[in-house]
Amino acid sequence: MPAIDPILDIAGLHTGYGSREAVFDVSLSVGEGEVVTLVGHNGAGKTTTLKAAMGLLAVWAGEIRFLDRRITNSSSAANVRRGLCMLLEDDFVFRDLTVAENLQLAAFTTASDRAAEIRRDVFELLPVLADRRGQRAGTMSGGERRMLSVGMALMSEARMLLLDEPSLGLAPVLVEQVMGLIEQLVAERGLSVLMVEQNVDQALRIADRAYVLRAGRIVVEEDASALRQRSQWWDLF
Ligand code: ATP
Repeated sequence: MPAIDPILDIAGLHTGYGSREAVFDVSLSVGEGEVVTLVGHNGAGKTTTLKAAMGLLAVWAGEIRFLDRRITNSSSAANVRRGLCMLLEDDFVFRDLTVAENLQLAAFTTASDRAAEIRRDVFELLPVLADRRGQRAGTMSGGERRMLSVGMALMSEARMLLLDEPSLGLAPVLVEQVMGLIEQLVAERGLSVLMVEQNVDQALRIADRAYVLRAGRIVVEEDASALRQRSQWWDLF
């Protein structure tokens, strides 16, 4: 458990696809301003856990709480309005629209004067988006699109980000940039983050705590620094 009050609390989650259960009795929590990573082999149930928390997949049993309210089986649209935002593994940007249009769409829950203010803020934080505001998202590089996804999450005034493999497919220098951005969002804006990562080294470098998921069950919960110091942490998977 985090030392601080959890912003997201998942208790005894069971879920899956069709009649096949993929996640068994998973409990985890994320404190305000905390970065928590969920790691494990392919097919361990990491994305499934995030989707159930976001309201993209039905919860079969268990409870999800966000900001101290029960959100089990709430719609993802309602969860976005509450301040929860998930960045999917594939960049969730509208490729035919420009950077500016994507940001505008992402602010659908935000009043327009407030949206203009946040947009200035996003451009300051992510100058690459300001430089390319008129460019169609589909013509940007993978790293730039990932930055745009983060910009869109900020436009929705998210309090918490659920990140599904933010480093996927990125060159090492861009992985560093995306991880640096996540650290900055937490330090400067107090965002909370639950991040699924295959790049365990990078994830443990910026995370406060980590959960290891194996075959749909949590097998380890540990401070990221303690896990980093284990010489054989791969054995835990
Ligand atoms: P990866 O690192 O490969 O993305 P993961 O830990 O995120 O893996 P999940 O995507 O959560 O794993 O998958 C957990 C289990 O659920 C796997 O056995 C997977 O085959 C199954 N699964 C995932 N998505 C679906 C789906 N849409 N329909 C049916 N089964 C699915």
